[in-house]
Amino acid sequence: MPTAEISRPESTTAFAHFDRQFIAGHWRHGRSTHPNRDRNPFTGETLVEIPQANAANLEEAYRRAAVAQQDWAAQTPGARAEVMRRAGLVMEAHRDEIITWLIREAGSTRIKASLEWQSVRSVLREAETLPYLVEGRLIPADVPGKECQVYRSPVGVVGIISPWNWPLQLTARSLFPALAVGNAAVVKPASDTPITGGLLFAKILEAAGLPEGLLSVVIGAGSEIGDAFVTHDVPRVISFTGSTPVGRHIGRLALEAQIIKRLELELGGNSPFVILADADLPRAVEAAIFGKFLHQGQICMITNRFIVDDAVYDDFVDAFVERVRQLKVGDPDDPTTMIGPLINQSQFDGLWRRILQARRDGVRQVFGGEPQGLVLPPHVFVGVNNEYQLASEELFGPVAPIIRARGDDDALRLANGTRYGLSSAVFTRDLERGLRFARGVQAGMTHINDQPVNDLPFNPFGGEKNSGIGRFNGRWAVDAFTSEHWITIQHEPRAYPADARQISGPWSGG
Ligand code: NAD
Repeated sequence: MPTAEISRPESTTAFAHFDRQFIAGHWRHGRSTHPNRDRNPFTGETLVEIPQANAANLEEAYRRAAVAQQDWAAQTPGARAEVMRRAGLVMEAHRDEIITWLIREAGSTRIKASLEWQSVRSVLREAETLPYLVEGRLIPADVPGKECQVYRSPVGVVGIISPWNWPLQLTARSLFPALAVGNAAVVKPASDTPITGGLLFAKILEAAGLPEGLLSVVIGAGSEIGDAFVTHDVPRVISFTGSTPVGRHIGRLALEAQIIKRLELELGGNSPFVILADADLPRAVEAAIFGKFLHQGQICMITNRFIVDDAVYDDFVDAFVERVRQLKVGDPDDPTTMIGPLINQSQFDGLWRRILQARRDGVRQVFGGEPQGLVLPPHVFVGVNNEYQLASEELFGPVAPIIRARGDDDALRLANGTRYGLSSAVFTRDLERGLRFARGVQAGMTHINDQPVNDLPFNPFGGEKNSGIGRFNGRWAVDAFTSEHWITIQHEPRAYPADARQISGPWSGG
């Protein structure tokens, strides 16, 4: 395929030419023979056909990144912060266009797309500060005359793999911090979101003046470049956000690669939303609607199960169903639509199979509706058991199973009765009771009197158990994308023991 260059876009000119990828500093067609057909999940329209990247494209991207990173790391923190600042301005100039891409490509409702744009803007504000947080240390030593220094440096090149559900944010939260602290990055977005999870960043950062070669976006089939993306010698960290089974596979590859990679794994969830007997019910219901149906339930932190105390169970179900009945379902572009399309046929089929199975198993459905294309109306099931498939597996859709609990201890047992541990929520009027409950939840994040979908700058985002390893944001992002190097200086001659009887006091060594 011919290689074609595109001039740097003006910040107010609409981004275009998304059939080309940004590889090693150039906009070009990928060299695989299989195209990616990027579709609008609501209308079914083909948005663009992208010739995919092959192994040679990937090789070029990583090699160029390794070279470009050397100069970038040597730049002042201020110079790197300035690129982040300008990227923020480009994002603002293109706000409507970016939101429209999220609606058209990712099937985001306008509410979700606007929130996602907003959260990425926050990631950039935070990223502006990160270059200044790459700090070293001096540590006291138990050896006379020894000085212990710890230097902190960028890891080099970071490989980023992101999912389709919140693509702009989930690429951004690895990409911007990784670049800000002095790394280069190669991004592999999900096949359903090559633009919002990848190419938009190339456009934004190119316009912001990011030096050439520091960022590549490779859009390729998992079968063609997936494993090589992880095992390639160049990347030092693989930052993966996606499902737990694929995360396990990536983890195995990373540890078996010729040069072992560090891993950031942000995986699936099964968040419990717990309503204790003394909860403010109207408040809990409003939170429950948002925390279950935002982006038609396709969010890692979204409520997967409601666990409701027996004392308020029936009242909660009635009020919740009443609110569900009012939700607008359908065209994601309508600013008041809450439930738009699922991302693709395979996600839809998986969810529909579970609904049919639940009905066959006799689980009582108190709300539902007929699907239209990939739009699935909200479904509510009551009398659900924690062991049912509806509660034990990540649903990733607008389906709400409601489980009955008998007291706080039972609710906590149910909340923790999962292999996942990402986010969680508990509603109570008694904040001490809420805090006691929250401390008992086996999860990376618990929100008292709020729903589980929260991600705030400078706060640690991440999961426990099968929901992943690693934390994002602020200093956790700096830890994720830098390495510490311990260097000692022995200032005066040292007496090494030649007789075991001379050894006393602290000693460490290996
Ligand atoms: P997925 O695991 O199917 O895919 C994630 C990414 O991995 C995609 O880009 C995909 O192309 C890529 N991939 C797949 N196989 C690969 C391979 N062999 N080598 C390299 N890359 C490969 O997940 P998905 O369906 O895109 O996203 C939904 C899942 O992501 C849900 O389980 C959700 O909970 C999870 N998720 C987690 C978080 C979090 O922060 N914990 C956030 C969003 C989504």
